[in-house]
Amino acid sequence: MKILFAGAGAMGARFGWMLSQSGNEVVFADNWKEHVDAINEQGLKIIVDKKDLGNYKIKATSPKAVEGSFDVIFVFTKAMQLDQMMQDILHVIHPKTRIICLLNGLGNVEVIEKYIPKSQIFLGVTVWSSGLGGPGVVDATGSGAIELQQMDKTDDPFNADMLDTFNRAGLGAVYSDDVLQSVWHKVGLNCVLNSYCTLIDCNIAQFGDYKDSEVLVDYVVDEVVAVGHAEGVNVLKDVIVSKIHAVYDPTKAGLHYPSLYQDMAKHRLTEIDYLNGAIARLGKKHGISTPACDLITHMIHAKESVVGAK
Ligand code: NAD
Repeated sequence: MKILFAGAGAMGARFGWMLSQSGNEVVFADNWKEHVDAINEQGLKIIVDKKDLGNYKIKATSPKAVEGSFDVIFVFTKAMQLDQMMQDILHVIHPKTRIICLLNGLGNVEVIEKYIPKSQIFLGVTVWSSGLGGPGVVDATGSGAIELQQMDKTDDPFNADMLDTFNRAGLGAVYSDDVLQSVWHKVGLNCVLNSYCTLIDCNIAQFGDYKDSEVLVDYVVDEVVAVGHAEGVNVLKDVIVSKIHAVYDPTKAGLHYPSLYQDMAKHRLTEIDYLNGAIARLGKKHGISTPACDLITHMIHAKESVVGAK
């Protein structure tokens, strides 16, 4: 299959490498010039679980310069970069191109559907993770899985072929009948851990060790659940809370600093407007008060301003 990665940062580059290794024609389209140049000059370096797996030649270019047409496009920008990326790659999307969106946060489908019909959009959620060790270097750990759902279901046999292709690459993809529920459960977890760890300046285990962490969890999760229900999504508080508790363990993700923390540490803008900020915005739409998410969103923006994030 011909697969474009529109955004080839930590996640895009890791998935792109996996899909190219299983025989697909993969192209990276990315606006970070140093990263694109490093991939073209030295190949993409892959480090998984601290093991250097070598450098791999995968074509990389800027989004506006990408040529051809693609069967599948993974959008893998940060949420605030998605709209611009869609505009930059519109010229390589044809009526059969599937767009896969595994970005964290809320509102991403609404951005993509401004440009293409919902039947071409597959929304998903993933427990894969990845990082970058500088331009041209993927530094990742562990393995994962993907849950995906076509936003307007069609019976095109291509859809099953596409999932097979992902699974031959080891991505562990399954079709979901209620991906929005899974998206909201992940949003609930991220609204708690990404935001609090950044504001408190701690890792996940340290947050869990705080004697009253459950009070902080409840403030946010209760708002996520109320707003999710108003949006017609069957969001379950128990599921979000048990996912949060499951990652406190230092032998699992406990020693990890969430991605929003890492973006702030690198003075990059964060995805807060698509997490707690989205809950606050949707809460207003439904007349639901969300004081915790309002306050957290302002505090993260204030911190972005203090560190000069861009
Ligand atoms: P990323 O920040 O690594 O990459 C996103 C874009 O930013 C890419 O275009 C990348 O080239 C660019 N970029 C990265 N570092 C840069 C730098 N120093 N200077 C200039 N540009 C830079 O993002 P990601 O981690 O791949 O995440 C993509 C989406 O997937 C997000 O919505 C994220 O929340 C979600 N996600 C991430 C993970 C993870 O473990 N990284 C896991 C699940 C979901």
